[in-house]
Amino acid sequence: MRPIRQSKSGRVLLVPKHVVRQSYEAFGDYCRQRLESVVYWYGLETPGSSTDVAVAVAIPDAQCHPTWYEVSAEQASAMRTTMATASLVCLAQFHTHPWKNTRHSLYDDRNSISIRNGFLSLVAPNYGCRQDLGLEEVSVHEAWDVRWYLLAKPAGQRRIRIVDDAVDLRGVR
Ligand SMILES: [Zn+2]
Repeated sequence: MRPIRQSKSGRVLLVPKHVVRQSYEAFGDYCRQRLESVVYWYGLETPGSSTDVAVAVAIPDAQCHPTWYEVSAEQASAMRTTMATASLVCLAQFHTHPWKNTRHSLYDDRNSISIRNGFLSLVAPNYGCRQDLGLEEVSVHEAWDVRWYLLAKPAGQRRIRIVDDAVDLRGVR
């Protein structure tokens, strides 16, 4: 699978820094045990707009193994129900790999929580032990027409834009 230069959906996902930070905090517990782990980003899709916004992180009680993870249908349904009360939809999944290779495994291709058009799947290397708040080493895959596409680095950076939680201009002249 060659990385593609342009996202198939052409959408942009805005991700506040706290969403990325909380994802790495969740990975931290499993990193010490050398286990893969996964979180999901929920947010809003605005009709008529090509920009989505992530606002919350859902951390399932996954079965974590050294080279794969599993989220039960019950866990997926519990997350969906909780987030639906706030009208939030699942926009991305974010999981870790034990090694440097952050490409989807065949298992990943077949066991994503969603494969609807534009759904994103991010993979962090080395069990996500190192907080990578800029997502520099994280791969970005996008689902389109029931298959997964790995986005080339610049395309991934255009597809996911990290935004500051707060901007404090006091004292700035
Ligand atoms: Zn994987």
